[in-house]
Amino acid sequence: MGIKAPRGTVDILPHDMERWHFVEHIVRQTLNCYGYQEIRTPIFEATELFIRGIGDATDIVNKEMYTFQDKKGRSITLRPENTAAVVRAYLEHNLGSQQGSLVKLFYMGPMFRYERPQAGRQRQFYQFGTEAIGSMHPGVDAEIIAMILQIFEQIGLVGLKAEINSVGCEECRTNYRTVLIKYFHTHISQMCSDCQMRLEKNPMRILDCKVPACQSYIKECPAVIDSVCKPCRNHLDEVIKYLHLMNISPIINTRLVRGLDYYTRTAFEIKDESLGTQNAVAAGGRYDNLVRNMGGIITPAIGFAAGMERIILAMKNKGIGPAEKQNMLYIATTSEGVKDTASALAQKLRAGNIPVELSWDKKSLKSQFRHAANMNARHVIVIGDEEINQGKVILKDMVKEEQRLVTVEELHNLLINL
Ligand code: ATP
Ligand code: MG
Repeated sequence: MGIKAPRGTVDILPHDMERWHFVEHIVRQTLNCYGYQEIRTPIFEATELFIRGIGDATDIVNKEMYTFQDKKGRSITLRPENTAAVVRAYLEHNLGSQQGSLVKLFYMGPMFRYERPQAGRQRQFYQFGTEAIGSMHPGVDAEIIAMILQIFEQIGLVGLKAEINSVGCEECRTNYRTVLIKYFHTHISQMCSDCQMRLEKNPMRILDCKVPACQSYIKECPAVIDSVCKPCRNHLDEVIKYLHLMNISPIINTRLVRGLDYYTRTAFEIKDESLGTQNAVAAGGRYDNLVRNMGGIITPAIGFAAGMERIILAMKNKGIGPAEKQNMLYIATTSEGVKDTASALAQKLRAGNIPVELSWDKKSLKSQFRHAANMNARHVIVIGDEEINQGKVILKDMVKEEQRLVTVEELHNLLINL
């Protein structure tokens, strides 16, 4: 066997592409309705950006980054997520220059994490996501959750669960840290080595641990919401109020925390139960301190990222796909002699944006019709020696199974109106 795609990566093959394009189309359309504009940042960045942006006590930075030195010895990392890069671009290009502006950006593209590959978990995977930078209004939080659910509904993924929580502000997190250290202190010797490291560096990360032995202790631990201050609690209540006004009933998960260091206040996850263990299709939250941590002035912000592969998987599990397109036109020829006419006609039709296929190599009409059926062609034009001498061709409707003789001039009008 020759060279294969690297572990944890997959080829997205043509037969899946229609599903991908369908999802991408819905995403762009919906995000546009909510006023988001696309941004494309590089796939690699200075390693320092992610260490500063994501935090050095996170799994992503500690274990999952694809980091290498370029030929000049600079440390480069393939982006494991895109929030840090979008905030970098926001600061670098001064996108928030207008006083009191709310900058709404979205992105779509591949991310890279060195993880253990399994269903719904790859080393190269695609995300789309948004960042709204410049508002601390709880209405913005609610709007984003509503927007994500709208995207999923339009894709055909209905009834997804939106879980929400508050991880509080810096002060709340300091309090919670003390509470967690006190609680885990007595259990930590029975827990995994990562959790032992997390207890020292960043105990809240323990709540993200997926090791079964640690789960039983995590299940019983004090909830973050009980350490949250009054203003942060009010913020969460306001988000929930707005969601109810939008006809959305979130599930309050008082133990929900997010894997990245920069989150404050609202944290949320959208889950699809059909996916089994890796059931989060989108996740996000507020990051009111990130812009400042990265060298800007204090600027509240909120964003999310959704995993494309898990969305495609969920669609397949539920038998959801875009309607099959059947707009292809196939030109069949009865002899080598009429290929001149066939190729000229194909060229003209394609120039008019009509998708046309013709076979240069297949000899018999039977094999050409088989080819047309495989291509899911809606119509077949048969160019025969006798007919073409009278300036005519046969036009066959593959669905209605009807055929008629038409002149080449008529054909043009017919095809334009198909
Ligand atoms: P998880 O708990 O599943 O590891 P996460 O907290 O690392 O998720 P985020 O960094 O918030 O996830 O990414 C947002 C979304 O991107 C996830 O909900 C998921 O749908 C998708 N995602 C994250 N990591 C992967 C991966 N390795 N392969 C495929 N999709 C992923
Ligand atoms: Mg992860």
